[in-house]
Amino acid sequence: MATRMNPKWNGQFSCFDLVAKTAQHSRTIVRVGNFEIGGDDFVVMAGPCAVESEDQIMRTAEAVARAGARVLRGGAYKPRSSPYAFQGLGVEGLKLLCKARESTGLAIITEVMSEEDVDLIAEYADIMQIGTRSMENYALLEALGGCGRPVLLKRGMTATLEEFLRSAQVIAAAGNPDIILCERGIRTFETATRNTLDIAAVPVLNAVSHLPVIVDPSHAAGVRSLVPILARASTAVGADGLLVEVHPSPETALSDGIQSLNFQEFRNMMADLQPYIELQRGSYEFRPELLVAGGAD
Ligand code: PEP
Ligand code: MN
Repeated sequence: MATRMNPKWNGQFSCFDLVAKTAQHSRTIVRVGNFEIGGDDFVVMAGPCAVESEDQIMRTAEAVARAGARVLRGGAYKPRSSPYAFQGLGVEGLKLLCKARESTGLAIITEVMSEEDVDLIAEYADIMQIGTRSMENYALLEALGGCGRPVLLKRGMTATLEEFLRSAQVIAAAGNPDIILCERGIRTFETATRNTLDIAAVPVLNAVSHLPVIVDPSHAAGVRSLVPILARASTAVGADGLLVEVHPSPETALSDGIQSLNFQEFRNMMADLQPYIELQRGSYEFRPELLVAGGAD
């Protein structure tokens, strides 16, 4: 490994001793319930941008579980670009996520925006999501140190990989080693996509850090037609999983509908990914039927 590494990466990242890859610590496996992130499985987290209603989250949970997702995503506290946009259902949204977990067995991931909400959200969530706008909110990162839940840290939209790992180091130094890195696209001069998916970030992060790396193709692309092909690319570069937005009727979604897949599109994406996942991980076991047959979609 060392001989194939760009010497610059070593110099930039080795100071983040708790998250940098070393001969002694080359891989972190984050355990969530009965599965692992960063191990042999390719873990798909899927669901709506925001929890909107009981019907919406329950139907989505059933559909994504049947298609092979392991984790249900859904924002209850939403960081929105406009102050006039839907801000999320708050605690009511957290309760609906728990109901969906009970009926499907999916783990749940939801965003925490403020250090004051950490304890509350940790009571409900299996994984704490830190959004792109919060990556450098050190008070929040430090508050995650003792929350007892794994943290999915999204890359800031204008953050270098060095800055990204610096934030991961802050969480680890505060006492929480269970961190999953998420590449979700960065701001560039390009306007044809919402962000630019920095696909090289995945192998670079895998080379310099022991933390698992997943990709969010939805926020990277900003348009649903690109999501499945970016998901393919993510498997090929060695990502440990995906975070994907799925909605029962994307055209009526209260947020990020343009980049959300409907249920059929999600099923198609999961089927399309199988050969690519198998190429990367010989031992991957596809479990499309987590639920007993039935349920609406
Ligand atoms: C989200 O996952 O819905 C979200 C707000 O993502 P990001 O922080 O990457 O914009
Ligand atoms: Mn979103």
